[in-house]
Amino acid sequence: MASPLAEARLTDYPFVASETISAVIPALERGGHKVQEEPRRMTIHSLCTTNRLGVAAGLLAVFVVASPLPGDEPYARSRTYDLEHSRIALRFDLEHKKVLGDVTHTLSIVRDGTTRIAFDSVGLTIENVTVNKSPVKFETTAEKVIVPLPAGAKAGEKFDVSLRYEGKPSKGMYFIVPDKDYPDRPIQIWTQGESEDTRYYLPTYDYPNDRLTTETILTVPASWLTVSNGKLLSVADAGKGLKTWDWRETVPSSTYLITVVAGEFEEVKDSWRGVPVTYYAPKGRGDRLSVNYSRTPAMMDLFSKKLGVEYPWEKYAQVMVDDFVAGGMENSSATTNTSSSLNHPKIAAEMLTDEDGLISHELGHQWFGDLVTCKDWGDIWLNEGFATFMENVWTEAHYGKDQADFERWEGGRGWFSQPNLFDKPIVRYDFEDSSEFDGNAYTKGGWVLHMLRYQLGDDAFYRGLRHYLKANRGKNVVTADLAKSIEESSHVNVDRFFSQWLYGAGAPKFDLGYSHDRDKHQVELTVKQTQKVEGRVGIFHVPVNVEITTASGPKLYPVTVSKAEQIFTFPADSAPLMVLFDKGDNILKSAEFHKEKKEWLYQLKNAGEFADRADAVSALEKIKNDDEVVSALRNALRDDNFWGLRATAADALGKIGSPAAAKQLLEGLDSANEAWVRYHIVTALGSFKDDSAIAARLTEIAGADRSYRARAAALQALGRLKAPDALATLEAAISGDSPDGYLRNAALRGLGPLGDDKAVSLLEQWSVPGKPIESRTAAIRSLASLEKNNQGITKQIAGYLGERNFPVRMAAVFALGGRGDAIAVPALEALLKNDDLSIEMVPMIKRQIASLKKPAATKLTPPNGDGGESADTPGSASETSGESDVVLERLDKLERMVQEMNQRLKALETHLAPPKP
Ligand SMILES: [Zn+2]
Repeated sequence: MASPLAEARLTDYPFVASETISAVIPALERGGHKVQEEPRRMTIHSLCTTNRLGVAAGLLAVFVVASPLPGDEPYARSRTYDLEHSRIALRFDLEHKKVLGDVTHTLSIVRDGTTRIAFDSVGLTIENVTVNKSPVKFETTAEKVIVPLPAGAKAGEKFDVSLRYEGKPSKGMYFIVPDKDYPDRPIQIWTQGESEDTRYYLPTYDYPNDRLTTETILTVPASWLTVSNGKLLSVADAGKGLKTWDWRETVPSSTYLITVVAGEFEEVKDSWRGVPVTYYAPKGRGDRLSVNYSRTPAMMDLFSKKLGVEYPWEKYAQVMVDDFVAGGMENSSATTNTSSSLNHPKIAAEMLTDEDGLISHELGHQWFGDLVTCKDWGDIWLNEGFATFMENVWTEAHYGKDQADFERWEGGRGWFSQPNLFDKPIVRYDFEDSSEFDGNAYTKGGWVLHMLRYQLGDDAFYRGLRHYLKANRGKNVVTADLAKSIEESSHVNVDRFFSQWLYGAGAPKFDLGYSHDRDKHQVELTVKQTQKVEGRVGIFHVPVNVEITTASGPKLYPVTVSKAEQIFTFPADSAPLMVLFDKGDNILKSAEFHKEKKEWLYQLKNAGEFADRADAVSALEKIKNDDEVVSALRNALRDDNFWGLRATAADALGKIGSPAAAKQLLEGLDSANEAWVRYHIVTALGSFKDDSAIAARLTEIAGADRSYRARAAALQALGRLKAPDALATLEAAISGDSPDGYLRNAALRGLGPLGDDKAVSLLEQWSVPGKPIESRTAAIRSLASLEKNNQGITKQIAGYLGERNFPVRMAAVFALGGRGDAIAVPALEALLKNDDLSIEMVPMIKRQIASLKKPAATKLTPPNGDGGESADTPGSASETSGESDVVLERLDKLERMVQEMNQRLKALETHLAPPKP
């Protein structure tokens, strides 16, 4: 069996695999950097008049200014120097959350006549700068430190530039410390560089198109552990109860991949082919490490073999930290992940693939992203698409092909459900109104690589990847470098493929139908591409396998679709029992295939590949009140040999919603053993309103089932159904005990949809600081749904906006947006002025403000960040009856935005709570 995987993935970080918020978008802020013109001319003047080089240097400087220095973004920056090595010595002032740094950059000039160089630096106080050990007069702006060089440095000249500085980083470096509400919290200092936040704690060249080696020297209390890039050289006594840790990374990588972690951690040591593999958890949770992370060496082995390039770094560390602003971050040789990936062993046992999606994604980046790095953010798919693809590689090898197909099938549907992605190419440079870290870079990027693999065949594909990695290791790349490597190694021209899938936008939407001609013994298949051809979306040219099954068996016909409308003719000795277009689902597409019910029934039962059976489920679930359909889905739920199809059938029975469907789900529950299937069945039962027998059964499950996930799903389903006794059941679950409060959090979530104002005080009680973060975020969001006219509640939630805890703050933002009480607007507007918002947050806050200002047109409910696809999300059609097209259009747009937010939040809150139906 084996494959418990898809479940975790689907429910926990569906489309954006892992990285998130700060790893995610700085579109807006980056725009800021770009426009924020380094005050070049002005600064130069002051340098020229004050430095000892005099007028000649001034002239030279003006000359240099005319050339294209930074300001090239969103394209990669032009450079004046090559940063080769940084020696970064840091100490920390925990009480004031300050970093005290001493960094020496060894760099060589790449442009003749360079008289000054600039480092990115935000919010840092630069105390002293030396060039080759001589003090120099430097200048600072809001975003740079500008350092003069001797007149006219030549290309190739080397300098050691040292900067002593201190700062209280508003982002980039985070201090998690105990306080009055969480007195037992282990101390943790950690960094998050991507995309451009390293500059908030380290003055450096902060753009991906340069690579350097590092030495990171951290002086910390003797009882702490530290982790940074590369190999640990030494830990030495530094007196006064301190120790100094010396880490050295000898393989160059970009500055956004620098990491510093220090604090009260526990460590588990493992290894792979002599390479140290280590896992770290905040103190007290070390026993969670092996449960969730021990498959890491097997993944390193698989990826090294598949790619033909061995794991390239001196060690592999994974550090799990609290309050992380992303799901995971692939710092070179030292990944940081959210501590919510440290599942309780009992919960981990109920997740087929546990955290493998996250772990394999970040590990995949060690090749794609770290060893070979995108040159600019417009090519970020070369990092994220590959990491997503590598997740699938692990899944297929460890959990089987069905599981890998299932993930991809779900991923494709998720991608199509976000229409805002459709008209944007994967490779693009207009990030002003959206994130480059979106479902195109991740899901579609992973899909593109799957298609390439499928179309080239494994041999040629992996040969191409090996060549790409070898030719570009230690370099920065653009998409054309991949095309070139594939062509050089396989001699297959992939220009058309790259043109339509990477530089072009969208994917084919097919309308399909066929007829059988008895006399001619043939099948005529009509294929129409119905996507709107405009902008970067064109007509696709794709190879497709058509399989026609007749009484004499299946026959496979490869064809190429290349026109808006085409008719293909195939021999068929008798009327087809089944016609499959793109057998096995190897093209990212949507398809409306006009077939009769009996054909779908046959396909559900007989198609060999998961995706074709799942497509049949999707078609059949639209046929209501049909005994044959229910019975076929029942059979699939009970007998299909792959759990993912059984789960899909359960979902479909829930959507059908008839008494017959309910009966089959209840029976299915009796025979379903795996927690991941039980979860789906119980969730589906949550769509049968006004059925007291089902409510009673759900109450029973909530109280006692062998699966915690099923119990959690039942609690949330009871809330959604507004079952008569649900309040008592949920209250009981909240006061009860379960691993990591798993059931409590589910019950807190259920109280929102239940909508019973009697729960207000209980929710208030679980919202306050001091309660576990996961319980707080659940309670805050549910609280926002109750006593909508009570401004006290609005004010209480608005009060949480001021907290620095990232999940709590985000929960409050969405709760307020969904609550619809406009008195929250000033608090949200004030939040926008904070300087510690990762850029991702800004558009999300703005959208909530917009929704509060126009409550009539929006009716946004807070996305729950826990997997809710769309059922009870925003802008439901009921709000729109009789409204004008303009309003409909706006609703559509809002819905897209909320989907986007949902996706982000999901990634953010990876495992905060049991997945919600
Ligand atoms: Zn990633």
